[in-house]
Amino acid sequence: MAWDFATEPEFQDKLDWMDEFVREEVEPLDLAFPGSGAPFETKNEKTNALIKPLQKIVQEQELWACHMGPELGGRGYGQLKLALMNEILGRSSWAPRVFGCQAPDTGNAEIIAHYGSEAQKKKYLEPLLKSEIVSSYSMTEPQAGSDPKEFKCAAFKSGDEWVIQGEKWYSSNATLAEFLVVMAITDFDVPIHQGASMFLVPTDTPGIEFIRNVGMPGEPIGEGHHGYIHYNDVRVPEENLLGSPGEAFSIAQTRLGGGRVHHAMRTVGQVKHAFDMMCERALSRFTQGSILAKKQSVQNMIADSYIELEQFRLLVLKTAWVIDQGDKDLARTHVAMVKVQTPKVMQDIVGRALHVHGSLGCSNEMPLANMWMQAPIMGIVDGPSEVHRVTIARQVLKSYQPSEGLWPSKHLPPRVQAAKEKFAAILELEVGNL
Ligand SMILES: Cc1cc2nc3c(=O)[nH]c(=O)nc-3n(C[C@H](O)[C@H](O)[C@H](O)COP(=O)(O)OP(=O)(O)OC[C@H]3O[C@@H](n4cnc5c(N)ncnc54)[C@H](O)[C@@H]3O)c2cc1C
Repeated sequence: MAWDFATEPEFQDKLDWMDEFVREEVEPLDLAFPGSGAPFETKNEKTNALIKPLQKIVQEQELWACHMGPELGGRGYGQLKLALMNEILGRSSWAPRVFGCQAPDTGNAEIIAHYGSEAQKKKYLEPLLKSEIVSSYSMTEPQAGSDPKEFKCAAFKSGDEWVIQGEKWYSSNATLAEFLVVMAITDFDVPIHQGASMFLVPTDTPGIEFIRNVGMPGEPIGEGHHGYIHYNDVRVPEENLLGSPGEAFSIAQTRLGGGRVHHAMRTVGQVKHAFDMMCERALSRFTQGSILAKKQSVQNMIADSYIELEQFRLLVLKTAWVIDQGDKDLARTHVAMVKVQTPKVMQDIVGRALHVHGSLGCSNEMPLANMWMQAPIMGIVDGPSEVHRVTIARQVLKSYQPSEGLWPSKHLPPRVQAAKEKFAAILELEVGNL
């Protein structure tokens, strides 16, 4: 049985190259062009002039869109390699765009590659993979996020068109996107898991009303990049249906597993960044007769953070490995475990790093407070932790049985009795020898 924690030397060389490239060439973009939407503004000539040459270098290094197969210009790397790459990319909000693997476009590209017709691939996937456009995923609704049974947005057939009617909430990058991937109910007579379909809808289709953008903490109301959208009799031709009618939930599942692992591994990268800041500060700040690193409580914070980060990193890498092995059930449990741990690790370790920096840590002159605000967000995005805990418990419980009768199977009295009977001959001999 293989049990190996090492990275192949050739791939490690690529990771080392990425590490330096992201540090030197990409991270400065975060400082010069902050803002959650900035990396997705495909029509911004100023930032395009800066990132296009960087994207070309990434392509020359054969590290472009690595989640896609070679026939689509990627490398077809498995999840383990992608996870290791995302650990580096997580340090910069621009890095995924420079490497052609930004969410939600990665997931959208994957589902079009998997379920799309040739015409859909040509129209939507090709420009997406060339980074000429970005896309948006429009699933959750104002009255319902984690419970799809409460979704209402519907699509009806009218001649050779589908007509979409309803509202969607938090469609990230919708106002920057060229097209939306929209989930709508097409059959109300069956449970929604069989009755919802997925559509590719260009954002300039008549009837799409952007009610407003919803922002992240710190962004003024009305700004930000998560679209609240009203689909008001939005007509799309038949051929804009992705996959078959009723297939939306299987399609949605296809895009989520890998995406959650990438999010988690980017979190490892960010948290490591915060951890590095904590250690540097502990060695630099002098108070009450010593540097902070000499105080036992600060040592505890560093030790606990180091352990938790290493545990989390190994869990994420194992999850990526499990997905690559193709065991879907086990992968589901692992992805849910990673999803639950992501906000926790971020909250705890970034919180300690912030605390060790005191007032400076709370300020807008360090990235820590902003990073820390990501923790609760990671606990909601792609479904709240509670829902993933339910998944874990259900999956785990599949391999257990209830006990027979009144007492648990590990109840001691009958087991002690059984053990005495098993060893009766020896026990009797001992008694006899006394
Ligand atoms: C940054 C960000 C980006 C997003 N991007 C997109 C996007 O691009 N496209 C898109 O469609 N959506 C997007 N979303 C929406 C996201 O998918 C939903 O927010 C998420 O599914 C949770 O739904 P909700 O917000 O309606 O919370 P609710 O479903 O209302 O849940 C709220 C709380 O209720 C509790 N709860 C819910 N269910 C259970 C349960 N079964 N058991 C116990 N407690 C429960 C939990 O405490 C949970 O946190 C994004 C969200 C965020 C924060």
